[in-house]
Amino acid sequence: MRICSALVALVLLAACGAAPETTAGPESTYSALIVDGQSNHRIWPTTSQYLKGYLEETGMFTVDIETTPPAGESLESYRPPFSNYDLVVSNYNGEPWPEATMADFEAFVGGGGAFVSVHAANNAFPEWTAYNEMIGIGGWGDRTERHGPYVRLRDGEFVHDNTPGIGGSHGIRHEFPIDIRDSGHPITRGLPETWMHANDELYDRLRGPAQNLHVLATAFSRVDTEGTGEHEPILMTISYKKGRIFHTTLGHALVSQRCKGFIATFQRGAEWAVTGEVTQPVPEDFPTATEVRTRPEPA
Ligand code: ZN
Repeated sequence: MRICSALVALVLLAACGAAPETTAGPESTYSALIVDGQSNHRIWPTTSQYLKGYLEETGMFTVDIETTPPAGESLESYRPPFSNYDLVVSNYNGEPWPEATMADFEAFVGGGGAFVSVHAANNAFPEWTAYNEMIGIGGWGDRTERHGPYVRLRDGEFVHDNTPGIGGSHGIRHEFPIDIRDSGHPITRGLPETWMHANDELYDRLRGPAQNLHVLATAFSRVDTEGTGEHEPILMTISYKKGRIFHTTLGHALVSQRCKGFIATFQRGAEWAVTGEVTQPVPEDFPTATEVRTRPEPA
């Protein structure tokens, strides 16, 4: 009898020991790093704060920012500890990082790290082969057919178009509809098939290696807004070795980054890049097919 009680106590003790530790919230906490410091967008310090806030409000992320020295100064000291993080978000479009930093970043993403590229981050590093593989397609920086094909929607399929020409352009800024092309993906599941995005640049004619690239959403680039007459890739996932990448071309101006569609897809893309799943519900006030919905300017 006594032995039996002792056994019960031991089993209970073992069960307690094996129980999961209490966590602060329903989600795990991941660590994210935003890289910034140079950009053709002067508002980058503010957009970095926006992106930081959007990650933090999910309750899933703690966020640090690593800022490069300004353009024209040596970047030799810039070596963020990527491997200490689960996710790197780039808000950077500037001079090349030092070789060692580039190697660290390749090792981070290649080893299974998560990466999110926002707007002009896909303008950066035109001559960095691995970076172009991570973003799939990019623009400007004298990108041409040398960098890879365009990605074009033809008969319901995304195909590579090797037509020579520039990589990266945009027409007049305007509000435009986003069309979901894969509603079964964790990032886009539950989103309206079409939703209106706030005033933004509609990037067109991006090109790159486009390997292991999956287009989640497009926007039609109208000729009357000085666009291409093509359905341009807007939200994408890319795999690079063991790493998952979410790429959004949206987010030129503050109003673009206050679009509730930009925010939700960024938050969902960040979670997916880290875990391969999305647990965040679609916000009830997500934009609709006819209505742009933005957050007010922060006080
Ligand atoms: Zn822009």
